[in-house]
Amino acid sequence: MSSALVLLSGGQDSTTCLAWALERFAHVETIGFDYGQRHRVELDFRTKIRTRIAALKPEWAARLGEDHTINLASLGAISACALTTDTTIEMGENGLINTFVPGRNIIFLTFAAALAYRRGLRRIVGGMCETDYSGYPDCRDDAIKALQVALNLGMDRRFVLETPLMWLDKAQTWVLAERLGGGALVELIRTETLTCYQGDTGTMHDWGRGCGQCPACALRAKGYEGFRRSPAS
Ligand code: ZN
Repeated sequence: MSSALVLLSGGQDSTTCLAWALERFAHVETIGFDYGQRHRVELDFRTKIRTRIAALKPEWAARLGEDHTINLASLGAISACALTTDTTIEMGENGLINTFVPGRNIIFLTFAAALAYRRGLRRIVGGMCETDYSGYPDCRDDAIKALQVALNLGMDRRFVLETPLMWLDKAQTWVLAERLGGGALVELIRTETLTCYQGDTGTMHDWGRGCGQCPACALRAKGYEGFRRSPAS
């Protein structure tokens, strides 16, 4: 068994990734980024998620290591998109939703690799997905694989960038969570994670918290509905 660093934002996908890593690797640390996102409140969910997930299985508690938070305010300052400024979320002329933060995952994974280098962690786990997603180019498998090569060449390491959700739709991501941690993990993710772009924590739906209007809420609601309708659940 190996060690891993999980990108934990406080949302559904990264929490599922944390459970996936805890099931597989002997030592798992987490990293979160504060880049001035308007749904910054998601970061406050991280501590509770870590505590609650460790309580699900004794072996997960034993494997869960340190948490790291990195300030990337300069990324928010230069990107000026609907995720970091008070702009209406809408589709851009280029067919890309204006919540796209250019280079975000490249920067996140590069900072994660720099930390993993220092901490001696080999695997870096992220919730990037190109199956049921917002079309962000840096979520695609080819972008991640190219970055893995660049990081390994540039740092002279053998990092493995793991993206367990890459080929799953949102309903299948719920199925994966249920397989990893049963109904207790599904319930933890439903009630204790925040995916909403508006950072709306006050409104509770059957699929979890959120405004119910933004694209992230729409994806999450559709995925949960698909999960509940699937024969496995
Ligand atoms: Zn929302």
